[in-house]
Amino acid sequence: MATDGDHTFDDAIDGLKKLLSEKHDLQVVAAEKIKQLTAELEAKDVDGFNPTKRIKEGFARFKKEKYETNPTLYGELAKGQNPKFLVFACSDSRVCPSHILDFQPGEAFVVRNIANMVPPYDTIKHSGAGAAIEYAVLHLKVKYIVVIGHSCCGGIKGLMSIPDDGTTTSDFIEQWVKIGLPAKSKVKTDCSPSEFTEICTKCEKEAVNVSLGNLLTYPFVREALVNKNLSLKGAHYDFVNGDFDLWNLDFGISSSLL
Ligand SMILES: [Zn+2]
Repeated sequence: MATDGDHTFDDAIDGLKKLLSEKHDLQVVAAEKIKQLTAELEAKDVDGFNPTKRIKEGFARFKKEKYETNPTLYGELAKGQNPKFLVFACSDSRVCPSHILDFQPGEAFVVRNIANMVPPYDTIKHSGAGAAIEYAVLHLKVKYIVVIGHSCCGGIKGLMSIPDDGTTTSDFIEQWVKIGLPAKSKVKTDCSPSEFTEICTKCEKEAVNVSLGNLLTYPFVREALVNKNLSLKGAHYDFVNGDFDLWNLDFGISSSLL
């Protein structure tokens, strides 16, 4: 089960076994040990939180209150999906687009990642995001792509905190949020010196514009735009004040060309 050469599933399991034997000085089968550790972790939860119970009860509630009361909707969805929206939102647990925009199942194809970034077209580095955009635009034929930033975004704070020499200390996070570097440069030029939080808010919005610009690096997005089958929108959800801004990006191209 090879992935990218050095990081195979077998390597990961070997690493885990090694870690378990070093940490606990036990020669146990990794799977058994993991099972035991998981049970211990659940039993130790100070709030008495039981994830298995929470998940099972949550699904039971959804099934009773929504699934079984909407046979028409779920019957249609069983045949296929026809969402109008592709949405990019942050992984932040407070900003689920289905919650804040009341999307019903089948309405929005959603990609969530740190700081709701759309990376530029790159078949190697960003194939996960690229696959989602390609599928949404070419196969689902979504009409709208919406990129939603949000208040108090930790990813944007991380981006703004990267030192000017570009040094990073994390394995993935900083490298990922660097997609928003053009937004960082813009807000730093436009509004320095400002309060850090104020500058972060500006960057949250500007990074959305960078993502909208990056969408234009995908040939099938450009083509759908030119054929008037697609439009792009930016948004910012402020959960501190309960506000939601929505805008169209001006690409500086006259409408007769698009
Ligand atoms: Zn965020």
